[in-house]
Amino acid sequence: MKTIDGFDFKGKKAIVRVDFNVPLNEQKEITDATRIDAAVPTIKKILNDGAAVILMSHLGRPKKNPDEKYSLKPVVPYLSKVLNVPVQFADDCMGESTKNMTAALKNGEVLLLENLRFYAEEEGKPRGLPDDVSDEEKSAAKKAMKEQQKSFTQQLASYADVYVNDAFGTAHRAHASTALIADLFDEQHKMFGYVMANEVGNLEKVLKKPTHPFLFIVGGAKVSDKIAALEHLLDKVDAIIIGGGMQYTFIKAMGGTIGSSLCETEALDVAKATIEKAEKAGVKLHFADDAIIADNFANDANSKTCDNRHLPDGWMGLDIGPKAIHDFAEVIENAKTILWNGPMGVFEMSNFEKGTKAVAEAIARATKKGAYSLIGGGDSVAAIGKYGFKDDVSYVSTGGGAMIEYLEGKILPGVKAIES
Ligand code: AMP
Repeated sequence: MKTIDGFDFKGKKAIVRVDFNVPLNEQKEITDATRIDAAVPTIKKILNDGAAVILMSHLGRPKKNPDEKYSLKPVVPYLSKVLNVPVQFADDCMGESTKNMTAALKNGEVLLLENLRFYAEEEGKPRGLPDDVSDEEKSAAKKAMKEQQKSFTQQLASYADVYVNDAFGTAHRAHASTALIADLFDEQHKMFGYVMANEVGNLEKVLKKPTHPFLFIVGGAKVSDKIAALEHLLDKVDAIIIGGGMQYTFIKAMGGTIGSSLCETEALDVAKATIEKAEKAGVKLHFADDAIIADNFANDANSKTCDNRHLPDGWMGLDIGPKAIHDFAEVIENAKTILWNGPMGVFEMSNFEKGTKAVAEAIARATKKGAYSLIGGGDSVAAIGKYGFKDDVSYVSTGGGAMIEYLEGKILPGVKAIES
């Protein structure tokens, strides 16, 4: 992988795509700065070489320009503090005045551009088309957008001599700043930052050279989001624990009764096929024997423990039960490579967090005993943080969707743009 390590940035201007898509509270305070902290070593290396740094990112999903709610400005004080240099802010990522700011930027200085996604050009999707628009009009709008996206990308590229991609969280998107821009720099002047190198390096380690037994733990709400990764991993892993809401599509496919638990009817056949494929591949699928069920999707709902394959009508499984916690902990502690994506239950509600917490704890114990553990996906990362095990696992990924697509065996556009 071509990283910033081999490049001397002295006297250059570098434009760095970072992932500063951080959660902000009502007061516009950052509630989890993991993604900013992760980018600091890359920014510091470039600054220490004696270069100027232009940072670009998206935040949330703005639908207009500007969209105050999604401004990156609240990031500036924290970023200045962790970098220990005053960070300048351009309140528009385009325009003459921003162009002038980038031109005036001196070595050792940092400029953060306003949210790239204020412009539809970043994602390249036409915005605000009326519902009743004809197919011709739609395709004309798409064509026009392609042209606009070209000039948007060109302006971003014109700010700098070198392009660095350090945004793993958006590496699965072929957007202007994550992929298209790379074409405007020659081989020597585009490269990966440390976040990208670490993320890809750790995933490669797990996928290419795992120590066995290799266990994949998957949970969360939607089967359809994770089934492709699950299938791709069947020829790599020894066992899979399936928890969370997504387990109920599998349990129903196996003939269980699931009450009003989450279920993706359209994924039932796929779930059934996956179970058969796992059997053929010799991969042990672990399902919870018991569940904590509730009569309502609320923390204060009535709840009880129940056989996970026979849920009564009107009740839904919101967490794995005590026997499953015990069984899963044993499987986890015997594993030598552990990949975790997705909570075991509705861990945001205190009455249904035990399973997720216990899995995090067991992973920490396994890691202490020498297992290699990689945690990814927004909710598992939040859980690991919430229960205080961030430093007790081997690697915490900053990317959810990007990690899943990597696990599906896809070449991420952000990686391809620099490597090919
Ligand atoms: P995902 O983004 O697919 O990883 O899903 C994460 C979400 O799944 C979290 O917000 C959890 O609250 C939710 N979740 C986990 N288990 C269940 C469950 N048994 N029923 C409903 N939602 C669940």
